[in-house]
Amino acid sequence: MNLRDYIAEVPNFPKKGILFRDITPLMSDGKAYQFAAEEFTKYAKEKKATVIVGPEARGFIFGCPVATNLGIGFIPVRKPGKLPREAISVSYDLEYGSNHLCMHKDAIKPGDRVLVIDDLLATGGTMEATVELVEKLGGNVVGLAFLIELSDLNGRDKLQNHDILTLIKY
Ligand code: 5GP
Repeated sequence: MNLRDYIAEVPNFPKKGILFRDITPLMSDGKAYQFAAEEFTKYAKEKKATVIVGPEARGFIFGCPVATNLGIGFIPVRKPGKLPREAISVSYDLEYGSNHLCMHKDAIKPGDRVLVIDDLLATGGTMEATVELVEKLGGNVVGLAFLIELSDLNGRDKLQNHDILTLIKY
């Protein structure tokens, strides 16, 4: 199955000059969505992941089916102010300013083998911050998986020493 056929390209969203890759056509096609989830599930098995971590919000869309396929847990990474219990936070730089991402302090158990799943790798800032959160809590990051990689933005440079799976490359 060619997953690329299910990605819509939206010029000038969310601002002028950006070509946004819209994953909603893929999600709305049952077979394409299932195929993507199966590919991530195979990778999670290969890496012997014991838990899946996914950044808000599109990381949930691909991370949760993998967790339920394997009967392992899913841990959300969220923007500040969303998690109800004690959380840790890391900041990462954006083009203008910075952002924070948070995870519950007790989310990772010692010895957990963590696979992080998100929809898209651009500059790598979101994933770098997510890896930092997991490692701060003592997790062992065994792999990073993305539906889409925008190769020109060199996100992999920020994620050296990690094994990466991407299903679609531009
Ligand atoms: P990065 O931190 O690697 O620069 O950006 C990746 C994050 O931004 C991901 O969490 C992803 O959801 C979001 N993102 C950035 N550009 C796009 C895009 O064109 N399409 C989608 N679906 N998400 C994007």
